[in-house]
Amino acid sequence: MAKRYIGIDLGGTSMKLGIVDEKGQLLYKMEEPTLTDEKAESGISRMAKSIRRLADETDTPWEEVGGLGLGLPGFLDIPGGKILRLTNIPWENVSIKEILEEELRVPVAIDNDANVAAMGEAWSGAGASFSDLICVTLGTGVGGGIIVGGQLVHGVSGLAGEIGHIQVVEDGSLCGCGQYGCVETISSATGMVRLVKEAISEGRQTSLAAKKEKLTARDIFEAAKEHDAVAIHVIDEATVALARVLAILSVVNNPEAFIIGGGVSQAGELLFRPLTEAYTRRCLSHASAGVQILPAQLGNDAGIIGAAGLTAKQKMNRRMA
Ligand SMILES: [Zn+2]
Repeated sequence: MAKRYIGIDLGGTSMKLGIVDEKGQLLYKMEEPTLTDEKAESGISRMAKSIRRLADETDTPWEEVGGLGLGLPGFLDIPGGKILRLTNIPWENVSIKEILEEELRVPVAIDNDANVAAMGEAWSGAGASFSDLICVTLGTGVGGGIIVGGQLVHGVSGLAGEIGHIQVVEDGSLCGCGQYGCVETISSATGMVRLVKEAISEGRQTSLAAKKEKLTARDIFEAAKEHDAVAIHVIDEATVALARVLAILSVVNNPEAFIIGGGVSQAGELLFRPLTEAYTRRCLSHASAGVQILPAQLGNDAGIIGAAGLTAKQKMNRRMA
């Protein structure tokens, strides 16, 4: 019997739930608000009810559900299925895997949001034809997920893939992690906006000055199309810093492809062309040969699909073993 897998992508504003088939295709999805003052007990019980409702409303027999995966923002004990602390949601030290397995009687797996997005792209998105790849999410921060032989790499404390915190500038800007000069302070949307604001306060001429308070990364790419010198310079700085990180990762992991997602990746060729050029210039030529830098394909669904993949892919590998 064909199995179905449930994926949940929990964020600070919404909880996205979906049912995914054995090939990683999203069949149904729904979205509910995340209540930031809701305690773990009632939040998880609401989550379980929503899962049951999604299955009922889509006529998915519960016996067909092969597992449930969750992508969570924050610090986790991944093998133990435990939330240590979440970002913007007040749940601490909660054995969420145990609670949901008890409640729903299906295998449950958890992982962090950047890793599940990588798993989604690797399963049925831009990375589907590769077994070794690294996904990079360029949004308000820089996230990452590393897949080797089709499996996520976690490392000893689950921090493998936190590539946003590779330092690229000695004594650079303060990062949210407490260190200085991380690539996240330069190549994320927030980092690029910061660099433009710095240029404006140094008195540099730019069309972006008019938008100063509401400036977005999209505005910066738009201004670069109109040959704005500050915008061009900031995009150059952002792509060179990220290229340096990709070059480092190439000699560490030697992946077949880098998949770039998140809001900043919407810039398309304006990002991918200079990034690929800067990467090729900086990377050991044998490590970069044939490596593709590609845009992510699943957009906001990557998290749901990848979360579902946590249990689906585990099962497949066990079956193969
Ligand atoms: Zn950092």
